[in-house]
Amino acid sequence: MNDSCIFCKIVAGAIPSTKVYEDAEILAFMDIGPIVKGHTLVIPKQHTERITDTPVGVLARVMHVVQKIAAAQVNGLKADGVNIFQANGKAAGQVVPHLHFHVVPRFNTDGHSWNWAAKKYADMGEMAARAESIRRAMDII
Ligand code: AMP
Ligand code: ZN
Repeated sequence: MNDSCIFCKIVAGAIPSTKVYEDAEILAFMDIGPIVKGHTLVIPKQHTERITDTPVGVLARVMHVVQKIAAAQVNGLKADGVNIFQANGKAAGQVVPHLHFHVVPRFNTDGHSWNWAAKKYADMGEMAARAESIRRAMDII
């Protein structure tokens, strides 16, 4: 538990939440500021900040619950689709520094749109250089 972490406080019951699923390691609860109504957060109870500092076994169990919540939003809310979103670091828009996956039910009529502006590489060489940098770093974890 991290004493200054709002999601650790939710896990401990010190801050109220509307729970959707709970087991010994994982908690899913309603996001208080939904992008689309039904927006649910899935977290490990153990405090980690980023996907990269989370043990892979914990991450696998979190993802299993993400999958179950997505299916339940389709079956229970009659969602037409689901977005999964997860931010790492301030630059990526992470506000709460406790690993969490956003599971957002999507409806044909929800009016939400992501600010997804595709860019272009200068040429194929620039893209290949980025790919090589990622490939070379793949054995870090
Ligand atoms: P992120 O920007 O990915 O760090 O997302 C943090 C999310 O936590 C936001 O969508 C907030 O609405 C949500 N949030 C913050 N505090 C609470 C809370 N007490 N209960 C439920 N959701 C929360
Ligand atoms: Zn925490």
